[in-house]
Amino acid sequence: MAKRGIDGLGELRGKRVLCRVDFNVPLEGSGKDRRVGDDYRLESTLPTLRRLLDAGARVILCSHLGRPKGRDPELSLAPVGARLGELLEREVRFVDEVVGERATRASQELQDGQVLLLENTRFEPGEKKNDPELAKRFAALADLYVNDAFGASHRADATVAGVPQLLPGAAGDLVLSELRELAPLRDGSAARPLAVVLGGAKLADKIPVLEALIPRVDKILIGGGMAYTFMKAMGKPIGGSRFDAETVEAAGQILEKARERSRQGQQMLLLPRDHVVARSPDDVTGYSVVEQIPDDLMALDVGPATIADYVKQLAGVKTVFWNGPLGVFEKQPFHLGTHYVASFLAWRKHETKTIVGGGDSAAAARALGLAEHMHWVSTGGGASLEYVEGQDLPGLSALPDV
Ligand code: ADP
Ligand code: MG
Repeated sequence: MAKRGIDGLGELRGKRVLCRVDFNVPLEGSGKDRRVGDDYRLESTLPTLRRLLDAGARVILCSHLGRPKGRDPELSLAPVGARLGELLEREVRFVDEVVGERATRASQELQDGQVLLLENTRFEPGEKKNDPELAKRFAALADLYVNDAFGASHRADATVAGVPQLLPGAAGDLVLSELRELAPLRDGSAARPLAVVLGGAKLADKIPVLEALIPRVDKILIGGGMAYTFMKAMGKPIGGSRFDAETVEAAGQILEKARERSRQGQQMLLLPRDHVVARSPDDVTGYSVVEQIPDDLMALDVGPATIADYVKQLAGVKTVFWNGPLGVFEKQPFHLGTHYVASFLAWRKHETKTIVGGGDSAAAARALGLAEHMHWVSTGGGASLEYVEGQDLPGLSALPDV
């Protein structure tokens, strides 16, 4: 079932709309000089905000930022409000309170077409616990509710799962676009062959999505730190590479499942066959490329033979779901594996729909200047994985269907 969108909310002029957004963005600098380090999540929600404001709504924005334990000035949303004002080319009012007298007054002072940002919702301890009393206080600020926070929709927080029980609600344009683009991966209707490129730091985070995807996809190409947990499970030498000790057994089971599925055809789950190794991620000049990882070195990227192999595997593919960088892309030259595979997908954008999920993968695609050549770059990390896996996301379940 499709979710009700903003159109389904009726007349918006004069209405106060509490809009949950995902402004959990990286901040740079400290103290008074803090500023937004990456605009992607802000830009992604502009269509929803413009639509609400142009329709004459009085928009009250709320979001979490980071993981504060109580009030933490370093995690104030004030710098995010300032940046949003620049992007929106409108005044964004800010109140340094989440709920309470000042927040209430600020929301009542709003005029048609004006926008107010509340302080970091996680400054309230009830947010993460989905405290019904806190949800009531949020709901009292507004007449209507819009969820445009796809990246937070897997969290059963008060502003995500609680408030939509209390106010007439709808999904924002970003949430609807995310659902439209990710649904084919979830329901199995994506064009085949379908390949998954999976990397990133920890295998433990991605075991559930891997288990869900093995029966549904044609190829799984593994890179990043997670590859070494698989290699450990296979008894291969991994030197000082990062791996999850608690996940080695699960990795072995995944390999077994993939092997069973492979029996009908070619091998479906591929691991790197060569590696860029160094003493540490800071050792950016002393690296080398090896097939066997020496004891005293760690693997930081996939090597050139692996890149060539993966690119060949991806050549005939119609859909790619890419989650997780293939190496420590933040440090050159360990970005090259991610760079080459992403470049190849960009070149093939007319033949292959690439859908990128995961915060760091999206950051990597943008840092490489390739994001606009991908079919879709999700704003969700954990949320996109859980959605593709087939889980019910509390923030979506709480919204009415069309
Ligand atoms: P995403 O946010 O896209 O889901 P993850 O958070 O799972 O991705 O992983 C991203 C991190 O994985 C990056 O910080 C990157 O440096 C790290 N990483 C990638 N390859 C390796 C590796 N071989 N060893 C250690 N860390 C790695
Ligand atoms: Mg990440």
